[in-house]
Amino acid sequence: MWPPWATNSPSRPHTKSSNFTFTTFKDIQSLIEEEPTKPHLKKPSNIFHRVRIANSILRSWSTRPPQITLPGTESRIVIYSTSLRVVRKTFEDCRTVQSIFRAFRVSIDERDLSMDSSFQLELQRILGFQTKKRGLGLPRVFIGGRYIGGADEIRQLHETGELKNLVQGFVSADISGGCDECGGYRFVLCEECNGSRKCYVEKGGFRTCLVCNENGLIRCSTCSF
Ligand SMILES: [Zn+2]
Ligand SMILES: [Zn+2]
Repeated sequence: MWPPWATNSPSRPHTKSSNFTFTTFKDIQSLIEEEPTKPHLKKPSNIFHRVRIANSILRSWSTRPPQITLPGTESRIVIYSTSLRVVRKTFEDCRTVQSIFRAFRVSIDERDLSMDSSFQLELQRILGFQTKKRGLGLPRVFIGGRYIGGADEIRQLHETGELKNLVQGFVSADISGGCDECGGYRFVLCEECNGSRKCYVEKGGFRTCLVCNENGLIRCSTCSF
């Protein structure tokens, strides 16, 4: 049995003090507990937040068409590509995309960056913010003046059957790439300098040709858009 002083005597101050110590202990305990639990609680909410953002981005991508446009090309399909084999994947991606579009029998405004560097500047200007982040990946496709994407996007659209709908209005009866003038290359040798990039001027000797591009080429007047 407990001695009477332990059960009866100064019960109030005793319980008060025990209450006091209990609450302070609880406070301390909660303080101790809260410290490690805080970051623990924060972490999942951070992940949820990130997942929510990622989901909303994905939703906006899937529901909203890309807003990048190529003015003046609303009535055709433009593909920025390269015929150089420097980077194998890029070269193969370009070939794949070109063959996908050819299969749909649509005429393409092909802009080969290796033929004319002005295409590169043009593309950088249009996709500015994207190219800063990921570099100027090729190919890049515009349908009806609207930016569609690169090889991955085209493959995806093709697999889902969406591409067929997108190119429907661009099917052409004459898609033979064999232009008599340029043989389908879309460029011909500059007649001013014969591709040498240098013109002879009576007074100043040789001057850089102002008519052609850096490769001594000019766009074919017969088949180029
Ligand atoms: Zn020239
Ligand atoms: Zn031509």
